[in-house]
Amino acid sequence: MKTPTCADCKTKMEPGFIPNTRGDTEVQHCWYPGPPKSKKWFGRPTGSLKLDVLSGMPIMVFRCQDCHQLKLFASPVAGFDEAGKFLWETPAEP
Ligand SMILES: [Zn+2]
Repeated sequence: MKTPTCADCKTKMEPGFIPNTRGDTEVQHCWYPGPPKSKKWFGRPTGSLKLDVLSGMPIMVFRCQDCHQLKLFASPVAGFDEAGKFLWETPAEP
């Protein structure tokens, strides 16, 4: 997939992400299919969500450097590799 361009400014958008804090750990926000479902304890909602971890996809965010608009995508592979290269699509199968 190509790097998106801003719909208003027509300039290339900068890749990034929005961190999600869990305790003292920072992780990438994820998208899950379907409506949110609450975990239950003795039939009562706990306030926590039931997640199928394997169906979650990291959310990548592109930002326009001119008008600061954000555009979000969810992909099975989205983030930065150890060399700092931005990844946002599943590698092609051989
Ligand atoms: Zn723009």
